[in-house]
Amino acid sequence: PAAAPPPKPAKIGVPGVRAIIAVASGKGGVGKSTTSVNLALGMAANGLRVGLLDADIYGPSLPRMLGLSGKPETTDGKVLRPLVRHGVKVMSMGFLVAEETPMIWRGPMVMGAIQQMLRDVAWGELDVLVVDMPPGTGDAQLSLSQNVPLAGAVIVSTPQDIALLDARKGLNMFRRVDVPVLGIVENMSYFCCPNCGHRSDIFSHGGARAEADKLGIDFLGEVPLDIAIRETSDGGDPIVVSQPDSDHAKVYRSIAARV
Ligand code: ADP
Repeated sequence: PAAAPPPKPAKIGVPGVRAIIAVASGKGGVGKSTTSVNLALGMAANGLRVGLLDADIYGPSLPRMLGLSGKPETTDGKVLRPLVRHGVKVMSMGFLVAEETPMIWRGPMVMGAIQQMLRDVAWGELDVLVVDMPPGTGDAQLSLSQNVPLAGAVIVSTPQDIALLDARKGLNMFRRVDVPVLGIVENMSYFCCPNCGHRSDIFSHGGARAEADKLGIDFLGEVPLDIAIRETSDGGDPIVVSQPDSDHAKVYRSIAARV
């Protein structure tokens, strides 16, 4: 007779946290962190109590995007207090090591660090904890999805075929570990020239929507490639809070309301 499949590891939640949502991408550089930050700030603007966990251990970018620095305090030597910015509680490896320190860790250590940032942090009562996942579908992503009861995953992709192909891998990974995919965000969907207003579909706009339709999952929205999005997050005040009346901020808030 065929051997029984190995038992699935139990998924253990974070006390006080009502829902944990992962933001994932098939590869790096597609705007996953930018989306995570603006999504979290959009949720906070919509009235939710929000936490943001930077699980991108090798390339933590949330401290810079949120203009946060400094070491989290601890009361008992174990539990860390998250830093707070624009009403969102934030924890990142970037708070714990110097920016130029390379993380030369193997998989199990990365997973250990993510677990600690989930469980040994005083998140308090949260409606939602947004997790900025590491890019790709490696060990850390898989074990996080297996060990933590994720309410769902948002996939960020650029419109190009290759990025979409990678996004599809991420999608399949979440499906395999029974994490609902909440939808796809198309980032860098098109480019608007700041001088003449001409719109250019440099990465061939619409690919993510077509893919979402084909796969039967929600298309959550498209965010153009716009210098204002990069400049505001480089400056530590992402567009949702620094330009709340802009079209881009509206898109992020509408995505935040849908997930
Ligand atoms: P990832 O987390 O996928 O590696 P990031 O969110 O760090 O990607 O984005 C990579 C770079 O692209 C950053 O410098 C960011 O400011 C910029 N960027 C991301 N999305 C946009 C956008 N829609 N418009 C302009 N710049 C963007």
